[in-house]
Amino acid sequence: MTADAAALLFRTTFGSDPTGVWSAPGRVNLIGEHTDYNSGLCLPIALPHRTFVAAKPREDDLVRVVSAQGDGLVEVPLAEVAPGRPGGWAAYVAGVPWALRRAGYAVTGLDVAVDGRVPLGAGLSSSAALECAVGAAASDLFHLDLLAGDVGRTTLAAACVDAENTIAQAPTGGMDQSAALLASEGHALLLDCRDGHTEQVPFDLSAHGLALLVVDTRAQHALVDGQYAQRRDSCEAAVRELGVASLREVPAEGLEERLSALSSDVLRRRARHVVTEISRVQQAVTSLRSNDFRAVGELFLASHASMRDDFEISVAELDTAVESAVAAGALGARMTGGGFGGSAIALVPADRAPAVQATVREAFAARGFRSPDSFLVTASGAADRDR
Ligand code: ADP
Ligand code: MG
Repeated sequence: MTADAAALLFRTTFGSDPTGVWSAPGRVNLIGEHTDYNSGLCLPIALPHRTFVAAKPREDDLVRVVSAQGDGLVEVPLAEVAPGRPGGWAAYVAGVPWALRRAGYAVTGLDVAVDGRVPLGAGLSSSAALECAVGAAASDLFHLDLLAGDVGRTTLAAACVDAENTIAQAPTGGMDQSAALLASEGHALLLDCRDGHTEQVPFDLSAHGLALLVVDTRAQHALVDGQYAQRRDSCEAAVRELGVASLREVPAEGLEERLSALSSDVLRRRARHVVTEISRVQQAVTSLRSNDFRAVGELFLASHASMRDDFEISVAELDTAVESAVAAGALGARMTGGGFGGSAIALVPADRAPAVQATVREAFAARGFRSPDSFLVTASGAADRDR
């Protein structure tokens, strides 16, 4: 139990027992990529992999943080937390009480010990898992009562986004924090990024002899942040040229004619991805609700092709994961997350999972890629108190 590990780290670091232990999950997005900042739709599930934080409030303003995956104790007065301060991983922790205070909540300093079991930097949202576990702890420790319902949880998610954007200075659209705080076991979370509306969509593959495989490609590519900014800029340029409030307003019907008004082929392809991807999320929800998993698999493949060809955010490792999974019997597969590395997902018959994993591993070896990590996941629960 990593709740035990977090509590033990707390005791050995700070010399007393924590008030409690809280945890929050990583996520994979089933479909709907680069749609969040286009007022679109996405469909994440919470992972069984969680980040645990043991915490205790302080009388003074000091924030002290230690992590089993960090590099020593970091101390900063809450009043001195600012963009880039503290630097590094501790920003994801200290940014949360900072953001809650900025949102008007009475928050003091605290001691925090972290043990994360979400793979770091694999596109599975270890950053939001960390923020949201700290947010859950802060909600209870400072009696903010933000965990009791969706309204409070949405408020807490916004504070965690603020922490990541402003203090850790990482751009993020909000899907990760919503998944970590609002997802429910056995369900995918349909998130409408235009108005924040959410719906729970049943996602219990085991009842249908299926499973979801995550392939962490462990691929490392430079320039990821720059590419993300470029894609956002292209979407904004397309919005301006089309004279719409967002790409969400552009219907999928008659799309090509509409796109012909754009000034370049690149803008046409970027906008085409976003508009068709939003439509694929809607179709995937309909297919899941009617247990049509073949259709879901085909939507995964269409989504991957769109990201590879139109949005141009895939890389050879992600394409290899998708192609080899399908060759070994997956109903469908796609890269998930921002792109340029990270993870892919595959919808597989449960009894084919080991064969798919072996085939993917062999395909990576044949191309001289780093050996990928892969594991089966189920839709798990949101951030909460563990003890
Ligand atoms: P992802 O969220 O996809 O895993 P990010 O780059 O957004 O990738 O976030 C990863 C960063 O979050 C790490 O480099 C580290 O700074 C921080 N982080 C996440 N989990 C932990 C942890 N358990 N301990 C310390 N830092 C963590
Ligand atoms: Mg992240």
